[in-house]
Amino acid sequence: MNNEHRPHSDSQEIILTGISGSPGICIGKAYLVDREGVDVIEKYYLSDHEIPNQIKRFKSAVHKAKTELAAIIEEIPKDLREHAYILETHMLLHKDKMLYGKTIENIEKDGVNAEWALKKATSSARKMFKDITDPYLKARASDIENVSDRIMRQLTGQNGVNISGIDKRVILVADNLSPAETSQIQLNRVMGFITNRGGRTSHTSIIARTLEIPAVLGLEKATTMVHNDDLIIVDGNEGIVVLNPEEETLIRYEELDRRYEAHKKDIIRTGELPARSEDGRLFRVMGNIELPEEVVGVKDHGGDGIGLFRTEFLYLSRNYFPSEQELYDQYKEVVELMAPRPVTIRTLDINGDKEISTIRTPDEANPALGLRAIRFCLKKPGIFKTQLRAILRSAVHGSVRLLLPMISSCEEISESIRLLDEAAESLEKEGFAYNRDIEVGIMMEVPSAAILADSMADMVDFFSIGTNDLVQYTLAIDRGNRHVAHLYNPLHPAVIRLIKHIVDSGKKKGKPTYMCGEMAADPLHLPILLGLGIDELSMAPQSIPEIKNKIRKINVSDSEQFMVTVLKQKTAADTHRLILEAFGDILYKDVYAG
Ligand code: PEP
Ligand code: MG
Repeated sequence: MNNEHRPHSDSQEIILTGISGSPGICIGKAYLVDREGVDVIEKYYLSDHEIPNQIKRFKSAVHKAKTELAAIIEEIPKDLREHAYILETHMLLHKDKMLYGKTIENIEKDGVNAEWALKKATSSARKMFKDITDPYLKARASDIENVSDRIMRQLTGQNGVNISGIDKRVILVADNLSPAETSQIQLNRVMGFITNRGGRTSHTSIIARTLEIPAVLGLEKATTMVHNDDLIIVDGNEGIVVLNPEEETLIRYEELDRRYEAHKKDIIRTGELPARSEDGRLFRVMGNIELPEEVVGVKDHGGDGIGLFRTEFLYLSRNYFPSEQELYDQYKEVVELMAPRPVTIRTLDINGDKEISTIRTPDEANPALGLRAIRFCLKKPGIFKTQLRAILRSAVHGSVRLLLPMISSCEEISESIRLLDEAAESLEKEGFAYNRDIEVGIMMEVPSAAILADSMADMVDFFSIGTNDLVQYTLAIDRGNRHVAHLYNPLHPAVIRLIKHIVDSGKKKGKPTYMCGEMAADPLHLPILLGLGIDELSMAPQSIPEIKNKIRKINVSDSEQFMVTVLKQKTAADTHRLILEAFGDILYKDVYAG
């Protein structure tokens, strides 16, 4: 064992559990980078004549914060360039109505100091995002907090975390790290990091994954439990941190680290290759994206196309709906970059848990059952048609599929297709180049659609199962409610039977079924998905090489046979156990076998 890793004899081993932000294992000395004091903001009232001055102070702090961020963007290393857009979004957020406009309004209306006014604006923005469960919108909330922190530091004269100045090889321990701070990490100095706050889909995690350093987030008490120079193990695969590890633990993790690194090299090398099962069946493994910039990640990880382009992201952080031209430019970029591989553009899926602040929608007691996705679009055909026109125009530049979200009835399909035809006719009349000859599919994420899959198969070209919602609606479990999170399980027998019904109904009519929900990204589910006959899987780009690798090890005929037993199970736990018994070795032995 490396001497440097020898544990202190007087300290006890403690295991902290958090959220895996970025995979990998590292062992080293802790370096606390927590900044202090930013949260202690004093409130004081202004007399009327002080108000303009306070607004000026705030504007000057915003200006300085933007200049500071611009300098960081300039310095971003080449291999992180693809994520510069995160910081460019932050540049725009400095002038966001929720933050900038609201702070000035608070100074004027409440007659309070700029710090307090900013704190109040930030906390209202935080409240707005609090109940949203969609991970991508949650990430927006942390973007706003990061920008607010930066302005606050300018106002209070505090320094941020100077990560670029760290001069020894350490593991960072922080309350929170902003994407800007994370992007300053020098790989020869920082082995990994752990934080109290943050989650898997925060932009900080995304950058950590790009840097390929292990990170565990959401530990809550990391900065109070860990001290400078403490020896820690960060297990980003399991979301675990071991503080003061015992010798045996260290030896075990050093071995795990060695195996994980060997395994990673192996699968990345083969990411580009097709995913052909052991018995020779070819599966397409595609990427899910939210922004055009993410296409690079899909290509780098060997994605065979885009299985889900969540277009609602382009409607965020702005006070107006994007124009047809703007949408067209964005879609065209994605389609051209991926060509000849297919790009599945899903039409706007807003509301429910993805409310956009600029759209006035009625107060809904059950937003997940409300005016969401296709229901919103059919109620606002103008907004919908703008998007449909942009999609049809982009389809001239490569292979495009159109995907309709949250379909729950046949009428919604026929109405959407009618509007699509109208969009094509209007483009024809106006002399635009467009391609109406595209495949049209529906998300299978509402039980009524799944049950009607045989009828719907006549109306569309493909199905794409969105398990994130299908599980939520089938099991009546709010996907964002932590009190029932333990019941949320895609292996629930009812979900598996529904998936089977969808795939079988499609097959009878010669229509393929794809899957783009999170269920597709977990190797554990592969024997079931391949055994049921899913034709294509789509997931976050980073998961692609791993899933391709596992597909190559699975024999589809064995999985089909295995399904006969699975379909007789009464509980998710039994199914889980069966998968591990039958496929555990194939799925996990490369990383964990002794
Ligand atoms: C799903 O519901 O599984 C899905 C892919 O859509 P979203 O997560 O965007 O609701
Ligand atoms: Mg969904």
